[in-house]
Amino acid sequence: MTEPRPLSPRTLAAQALGRIDESTRAIVPPIHLATTFERDPDNLYRSGNVYGRPDNQTVRDAEAVIGALEGAAATLVYGSGMSAAIALFLSLGPGAHVIAPGVMYWALRAWLANEAPAFGVSVDFVETEDLPALARAVQPGATRLVWLETPSNPLWGVSDIESAARIAHAAGAALAVDSTCATPILTRPIALGADVVMHSATKYLNGHSDVIAGALCFASDDALSARARKIRHSHGLILHPFEAFLLTRGLRTLDLRVRAASDNAMELASRLSNHGAVSAVLYPGLPHHPGHAVARRQMKGGFGGMLSIRVRGGAETAVATAARVRLWKRATSLGGVESLIEHRASIEGAGSPCPPDLLRLSAGIEDVEDLWRDIDDALTG
Ligand code: PLP
Repeated sequence: MTEPRPLSPRTLAAQALGRIDESTRAIVPPIHLATTFERDPDNLYRSGNVYGRPDNQTVRDAEAVIGALEGAAATLVYGSGMSAAIALFLSLGPGAHVIAPGVMYWALRAWLANEAPAFGVSVDFVETEDLPALARAVQPGATRLVWLETPSNPLWGVSDIESAARIAHAAGAALAVDSTCATPILTRPIALGADVVMHSATKYLNGHSDVIAGALCFASDDALSARARKIRHSHGLILHPFEAFLLTRGLRTLDLRVRAASDNAMELASRLSNHGAVSAVLYPGLPHHPGHAVARRQMKGGFGGMLSIRVRGGAETAVATAARVRLWKRATSLGGVESLIEHRASIEGAGSPCPPDLLRLSAGIEDVEDLWRDIDDALTG
């Protein structure tokens, strides 16, 4: 007998792994709000449920789906992307050396630069797209973790996960990837050698701009994942069950949403490349993008829904352009069904590597012609 073909990510997500609630036969799992659970008469907790801070069944439901999509041995959902990422850095323990990208999600970069040293974690920032520079920066025996973000906010640089994993492992370090913008639909970092995948589940995984959540997915359930679980438990970083339910609901359409957003971003990036008011389009799907060849290798089925444009005329023109959109929403964040536009330097403030004339676009799933007309009108004035 031949082995059955494994179910595709789209199928797994659409059915949230097909779990049926045992007591009601409901095809949508219930939300478990209880914070405390009855002991068995012999004083044991055979259900595995003790208290709501360490764990919760609705959270485990979301973890099971995310873990299946990433091919992870252990998955932990947190109350935000930041708390997930910080739990991982704290799991390394004092004395750890970490390499992080020069350009990455700004608030996490700020935490690494300003707060991590107080926890005994030292950080060097390196252009992780530049593999020889990465190889020079790792310190064998001292570097515990190499952190990548790909494609990375807000310039959309692409780091080569497979090669970075080789460099990290040769130095005795683990490789973690913030895969928020690639999503498991387009890139599966664990299959490329990563040890940990992090998501701001606030973005594509949930996809509806109504949940703040994060996730860590581990290639093996080892001492590092145990430590990250312990930190979630003791620091009280777990996601609320209602939000975990919404996250699982959002995950069911992840495949459709990511592909639609990616297609829209690709089309918009191509058209914007020929727009007179735009001096540059930053999108890994464009052949001239410096990370295009790597992106073609490690992103399957699209280049993601995120792009940035540089507007001729500088910061003032960029802000004025964002002021003129009607359909796109002027807002921070990304990865929702609705398209967002943001003057990124305004939010990142002093020290941002973001050019002042840059607008970051999160393509949603709307009709691309509607999106194009609106942005074209805004750019044309
Ligand atoms: N990583 C990336 C790439 C992000 O864009 C964000 C948020 O914008 C985060 C991490 C942090 O996630 P959260 O806002 O869920 O804490």
